[in-house]
Amino acid sequence: MSEPKKKAKAAGDASAHQPYEYRYSSAFVEPDWRRIPGYKDVSAEDWRSAIWQKRNFVKTVKQFKEVLGAHLTESMSHDILKDQAERATMSMLIPPQMINTMDIQDLGTDPVRRYMAPFFSERDRTWPSHPMAMRDSLHEHDMWVEEGLTHRYPTKVLAELLPTCPQYCGHCTRMDLVGQSVPQVQKRKFDVSQPERLDRILAYLRKTRQVRDVVVSGGDIANMPAAVLEKFILAMLDIENIRDIRLASKGLMGIPQHFLQDEVLKAFDRMAKKAVSHGVSIALHTHVNHASQITPLVAEAARKMLAMGFRDVRNQGVLLRGVNDSQKALLDLCFKLTDHGGITPYYFYMCDMIPNSEHWRVPLRQAQSLQHDIMGYLPGFSTPRIVCDVPFVGKRWTHQCHSYDRVKGISYWTKNYLTSIELDNPEALFKLYEYYDPIDTLPEDGQKYWREWVKKNPPSKA
Ligand code: SF4
Repeated sequence: MSEPKKKAKAAGDASAHQPYEYRYSSAFVEPDWRRIPGYKDVSAEDWRSAIWQKRNFVKTVKQFKEVLGAHLTESMSHDILKDQAERATMSMLIPPQMINTMDIQDLGTDPVRRYMAPFFSERDRTWPSHPMAMRDSLHEHDMWVEEGLTHRYPTKVLAELLPTCPQYCGHCTRMDLVGQSVPQVQKRKFDVSQPERLDRILAYLRKTRQVRDVVVSGGDIANMPAAVLEKFILAMLDIENIRDIRLASKGLMGIPQHFLQDEVLKAFDRMAKKAVSHGVSIALHTHVNHASQITPLVAEAARKMLAMGFRDVRNQGVLLRGVNDSQKALLDLCFKLTDHGGITPYYFYMCDMIPNSEHWRVPLRQAQSLQHDIMGYLPGFSTPRIVCDVPFVGKRWTHQCHSYDRVKGISYWTKNYLTSIELDNPEALFKLYEYYDPIDTLPEDGQKYWREWVKKNPPSKA
């Protein structure tokens, strides 16, 4: 064998010696839903139908059991029921499409089940919530400049158009607003009707020329009638200062069938064409946490968006303990997104400090280490940033923290702009802002600090 060939062979074999082993595989098929007892007679036509998917959303543990049969043991069912009664901040809502991405032979450890149908026994017994956890941990409601419109960054706003989704994630950061009320959480309600709210949001965007970028979210825009969404986006495209529009939908993965319906495709096509003709970037941001969730139907829906003129379909996953907190899980997902999904890996958010989320959260030091571990495998433009959304600050790359007390698990962060609630308080620019690691991950001295802290600051009963 010639010397260059020997070298090539050595290089080819080298991936087996890398910390992460990548090998392209063209295999990409929809998991066969007929392996699931409740879907064994479902036709391909029904499976592809958004109406069928919606009619068969799983909303209760009883329905989950009927679908999964013996794969969901009695003890698992009771564990989920106990969680719903005592810990869950979101109600159950899982589309069949998502159930079909679970490993039904091992539901106990399946990553998708772990975040969509959590067990009580998985939550942290001693510290289910961090003492600093809050319902609206990012203060999005405090920063509403109109109902549902959060103005946190100088040039960007978040428009929460509706409070529902076609799937409810156990770790939802908007658990304060999104979804049905549950025993642990009485949800916030919008006061203003939706048409009036959307008009007020548009009026704010027209008069606020420093805003150029709008994240159109919820909830999930997949739950909005396509005609209503289209009217809103077309009106926004007439506002000269709006240069970037990002539509947020986990539903692209949870129920891609929605995006493959004729009237939805036509509405999205009109939005894309108008955006392109006005020189505005329109993109779709989805939320996928595990490689198993990227299927040919998801890829088909994403590629339709790209073909219409959407600048990109990007993924904003959430970094979750027990779901994707390893180099392999993150890179497997990123490669599936890029190689098969037509989706750009963009962010992994650290799970926010909402109540009862400690068992999902990872400490900052682990997030930093994971960021290190995923560098260099993907093209730079699709190497995701792992970000910490620091209350009153905003998203920061995990290595940007100013200082870090690893014993108490407190990281300190700076910022370079004022949020909408600090415009008359320039001192806010010079403060340090805190973020907290999950207490069970701290050394004993750190755990002791928090036990004593709680004795001195007992939770309010209000
Ligand atoms: S899709 Fe997004 S907004 Fe809806 S429940 Fe999940 S995390 Fe929350």
